[in-house]
Amino acid sequence: MKSAVTYKNVRIWDGQGDTYRPEASVTVEDSRIVGLGLESSQAKDCAGLTIVPGLIDSHVHMVLDPSILDVGKQLAQSDDDIRKKMPGRAENMLKAGITCARDLGGGNWLELELRDQIARGEIPGPRLICAGRPITSVEGHCHFWGGEVHDVCEARRLVDQNDKHGVDLIKIMATGGMFTAKSHPGRAQFTQDELSEIIAYAHDRDFAVAAHCHGTEGIANAVYAGVDTVEHCSWMDRDGKRGDYLHDVVIEMASRNTSVSPTVNGNWSRFMQFNKAHLGVVRQQFREMRAAGVRFIASTDAGIPNVTHHDLPRALPVFAQYADMRPIDVLRSATSEAACALNIHHETGTVKVGNMADLVFVEGDPLTDLSVLQHPTCVIARGIEYPS
Ligand SMILES: [Zn+2]
Repeated sequence: MKSAVTYKNVRIWDGQGDTYRPEASVTVEDSRIVGLGLESSQAKDCAGLTIVPGLIDSHVHMVLDPSILDVGKQLAQSDDDIRKKMPGRAENMLKAGITCARDLGGGNWLELELRDQIARGEIPGPRLICAGRPITSVEGHCHFWGGEVHDVCEARRLVDQNDKHGVDLIKIMATGGMFTAKSHPGRAQFTQDELSEIIAYAHDRDFAVAAHCHGTEGIANAVYAGVDTVEHCSWMDRDGKRGDYLHDVVIEMASRNTSVSPTVNGNWSRFMQFNKAHLGVVRQQFREMRAAGVRFIASTDAGIPNVTHHDLPRALPVFAQYADMRPIDVLRSATSEAACALNIHHETGTVKVGNMADLVFVEGDPLTDLSVLQHPTCVIARGIEYPS
């Protein structure tokens, strides 16, 4: 057991408040925060630095190589190739201030091996929460990962199979997606009744369920069926055209506490410049969803082509612009709000006595300027310091 370390002369944002905390020090013992505003014999002077909670990316794919643009080549990698690449990604995430990430799918549960290696302290990386093999329809979105089901009965069997592999939650593809030839993002892959049965089965086994949803029909099915998080939430009509926003569904999301994980990555800054009309429509949707009380959680879909696993700090200012949100609200979506949505708020997401010491040190004022998060001076994950 090591002795307590106090980081003094710091400015602390706890992940929740509207401004900084009155205390100017954080004391860490082993993996946890044991005090705010305490003195201790072992103190490190952090004058000029600000602490925020470690960042959470609520949608990543650890097995995907973002430098491979072709799906066929992506899938041609052997399990051992993938195993060799994953630790580097995990370490880069940690250095970027991402101390927790939710992995929403792969084919062979390799990301669960990585999760366990990190948890045992064998390699540096963020805490991972993993969904394993996603449930999809026949030839549906990401069917190549092996999760095709013909009916509810097969879907239940896949929940059980994921359970045996030790997943933390279940992922289901409620609509088609972009990288699968025969699937249509605007079309639902399951009926509301089918989703209700599958989600109830997963909930009975204490698994939260994340649903991939581009089309409005699929979003509505997933929300009324009781899904916990809606991924992407693109509000597309059946032909894939955006703007098919349904306010009744949004009201339902708010009343059921369904979180939206909009997967905005750093590359979208370019896309927004060229598509001002689209940006106006999307910002209005976000404003209405927020006004209705829907919770947003920051996410990037890291691993898809050209989106690195450590993209989140670069993505947050883009998310703020895309969703017309204040920097502090975006930062909440990447810390305390994400932790609540992922049901890990008793462990991380806030700078609070008793929580894990997951902390990011930055220069500047992250509550008004998210870009300062791109250059952390130090990251602490579960009490261990990783200088950047
Ligand atoms: Zn994804």
